[in-house]
Amino acid sequence: MIPLVSLKGAKIGVLGLGRAGRSVAAAAAAGGAEVYVHDDDEGAVERLGIVGAVQTDLATGPWPALDLLVASPGAAHIYPKPHRVIERAWGEGVPVDNEIGLFFAAIAHSGATVIAITGTNGKSTTTALTRHLVASSGRAVQMGGNIGVPVFDLDMPAPGDVVVLELSSYQIDQARQLSPDIAVFLNLTPDHYDRHGGRGGYFAAKRRLFEVGRPRVSVIGVDEEEGRFLANLTRAGREPGGSTIAISATRDLGGHGLSYRFDGEAIVELRDGEARARYPLAGIGSLRGVHNAQNAAAAIAAVRAAGLAADVVADGLKTFPGLAHRLETVGRRGKVLFINDSKATNADSTAKALASFERIYWIAGGVPKAGGIADLAPFFGRIAKSYLIGEAAADFAATLEGRVPFELNGTLDAAVAAAARDAAGDGAAEPVVLLSPACASFDQFKSFEQRGDVFRTLVSGLAGIEMGGA
Ligand code: ADP
Repeated sequence: MIPLVSLKGAKIGVLGLGRAGRSVAAAAAAGGAEVYVHDDDEGAVERLGIVGAVQTDLATGPWPALDLLVASPGAAHIYPKPHRVIERAWGEGVPVDNEIGLFFAAIAHSGATVIAITGTNGKSTTTALTRHLVASSGRAVQMGGNIGVPVFDLDMPAPGDVVVLELSSYQIDQARQLSPDIAVFLNLTPDHYDRHGGRGGYFAAKRRLFEVGRPRVSVIGVDEEEGRFLANLTRAGREPGGSTIAISATRDLGGHGLSYRFDGEAIVELRDGEARARYPLAGIGSLRGVHNAQNAAAAIAAVRAAGLAADVVADGLKTFPGLAHRLETVGRRGKVLFINDSKATNADSTAKALASFERIYWIAGGVPKAGGIADLAPFFGRIAKSYLIGEAAADFAATLEGRVPFELNGTLDAAVAAAARDAAGDGAAEPVVLLSPACASFDQFKSFEQRGDVFRTLVSGLAGIEMGGA
């Protein structure tokens, strides 16, 4: 834990007691602050049992003359409307910050190199890969933020250490201080518009990492318009940022400066259009797919900017274990590969999975999202057969009818058994049984993680299976 010593003696409100709120409340109390915590769920405070904090109703109770309110990422500050406690803080003239702003302030003089990563998709993969590459170089590294480790649960970094942060737009838009040394913008696609008042607001939240953050190095994915715009801003010097490195999985980048691009097999490091180093991805199972080429390019650019040698990075890539539930290889039976992509809760994510394999026995369904799977039609030719489960089954069947053979299996165990049986008789070089549901999980599971864990357990029960592997 990093105690918040700068808050000694101050009165601090903490709004929302998820993991981040609990962590920052404990850090403030340990630093000597008077901490008042509020959660709309009154039971939350007692259940969490924060040492040294006072439970308060900051929404309607007496206002304890706070010096600062720390809002959790889950508490809206503008859209769709401000949380009542935030509005009250504004009315009382109390500054509002979040745990990320406080964290940047707390480690500002540590001498650590901070790499902060944002984007709509691929944040966790890029963050985990960045951490892995730094660790494999032998340098001390810690990882936190949106990836599931609250930042105040980290230790105070030593000079020269690396801290890798995954930041969501919710965390960036309320942070008063942002000061990454290296900032990464991966991509921007529709998501979270409600919370930011539309695409413009969502982009504006992410841009703050660069405009307020003034990173020494900006690593920018230029495969979408927003990224090209941001690269232009940081380059032109109209916005702060020492150097800009463009990364791309799909575009032919020319031009000046340093860039990283995918040539179909490797990430190529270019200086003024000339190749200087290659980082092969072919054969690395945890980085399959063009979307992972974007993630790899971003992580490579970031760690190279942090001073890692090219050959160390190329070697480190080979041992990346990948993240669970994202195109995770869970096992192999003869030629058949079993892949857990339970994290794919919408058609967009499933498209990435379908694009990554040639001959697919596809398990899908759950609680459908608007639009269903109509947009997946370009990939139907790769699907040998599909196995439908959950509430979406009938809907998905209607879309597949006459185009892709399917079975209505209802449950995941029936689907795994049927898909494993059919794939075993396939003559293709590497048939794949793929769980990539294009649906939320909560009709049959607690979470996408549990759904993926059940899939893994079911696969482990198949006769002749070899678990693990990439
Ligand atoms: P995040 O942390 O941003 O949610 P993850 O790394 O957990 O991202 O990946 C979640 C899913 O998003 C993956 O399973 C994959 O389907 C998709 N994805 C990953 N990286 C990218 C990318 N660079 N571009 C588009 N989609 C991606």
